Amino acid sequence: MGLPEEITASLEEGLDDLVELYRGFHAAPELSMQEHRTAKAIGKRLESYGLTPRTVGGTGVVAVIENGEGPVVAFRADTDGLPIEEATGLPYASTASGTLADGTTTPVMHGCGHDTHITAGLEIARLLVTHRETWAGTVVLLFQPGEETAAGAAAMVEDGLWDRVPTPEAVYGQHVWPGVAGTVNVSVGTAMAMADSLRVTVHGRQAHGSQPENSIDPIVLGAYMITRLQTVVSREIAGSDMAVLTVGTFHGGVKENIIPAKAVFELNIRTFEPRVRERVLDAVSRIIRGEAMAAGAPDPEIEEMYRFPRCYNDESDAAALLDAFTDELGEDSVSRTDPVTGSEDFGVFPDSLGVPGVYWFFGGFRRETVEGGVPGGNHSPFFGPDDVPTALTTGVRAGLTALFTRVGK
Ligand SMILES: [Zn+2]
Ligand SMILES: [Zn+2]
Repeated sequence: MGLPEEITASLEEGLDDLVELYRGFHAAPELSMQEHRTAKAIGKRLESYGLTPRTVGGTGVVAVIENGEGPVVAFRADTDGLPIEEATGLPYASTASGTLADGTTTPVMHGCGHDTHITAGLEIARLLVTHRETWAGTVVLLFQPGEETAAGAAAMVEDGLWDRVPTPEAVYGQHVWPGVAGTVNVSVGTAMAMADSLRVTVHGRQAHGSQPENSIDPIVLGAYMITRLQTVVSREIAGSDMAVLTVGTFHGGVKENIIPAKAVFELNIRTFEPRVRERVLDAVSRIIRGEAMAAGAPDPEIEEMYRFPRCYNDESDAAALLDAFTDELGEDSVSRTDPVTGSEDFGVFPDSLGVPGVYWFFGGFRRETVEGGVPGGNHSPFFGPDDVPTALTTGVRAGLTALFTRVGK
């Protein structure tokens, strides 16, 4: 079994062009929900294959490939870069910059490898269009913006995505990671963690640094909150459950002899199970409000910055894909893997329809690099797949293999 030979041959033949295409995307990353040039480039390429791409959700691009009677299935590729200054030293490294929400300028990099997802997605489109004899049905290609801020999938769905395209019976997606190029990893069940990002504003009372009796010190109060938050995972969550709670920022005050009026900190929570998530969120709220009360401070504000939903792999579909990937890539190249603590908004697509979704990982690096320790994982300024041809080929083969479990002949 495996993919039809004419597809594999055509992929091989077009590989140099594909690597060129990848380098172009790598050199020109854009920030989340600002992927205007990227969307245009994707649209142009899809048009060159005779497709009629449409914009959905701002900078999202959707193309429908119809090929007679048969199932409808969707494939998603995310398209955004990150506010990171690239340090890979690659000849096609990014020198792009972008503007953050607060107006500051930042270097931008495809530091999560979404450039490989775009490129593989476009090649999947080309191969489906040029080898219609090998499949039957409809494939919906979703090029999704704003994955890094959990905004893009929701923006596309809210913009009426499912009213504009045929309804798929399953949605597939993939991500490059620091594994060996040529390999694919699939979880059965939970694939990635849910994530909640919260901003806490601690209110106190401002006073001269020499007169603490006139103050409610939000820095001391915030420090107590943050310290006590460390007990949520260690003292309130069962050892058999997964939860991570990280306070990543803490800001307060402008001068050492002024007790400020407020302090602000931000935290990020990862969980696999909805019941664990609820328990952690309840504990966080209780501790923050309880500490404020103990200090006699005004009620603090807790705002949700953003939230990543669950990324859950339908168990029977994931098992079917493990078999199909093994047929296509070989037993040594396919593994079942544990859920990872990273997060994704991919799940919005299948969950908004109530259909199965499966999300897998493919490697981007030479075996020697992986064995010696990849210099930087996703979101590192050093993240640069060093076996791009194999990574892209594997992404394309895995994507097509998944689609062909439903639309292949
Ligand atoms: Zn990322
Ligand atoms: Zn990513």
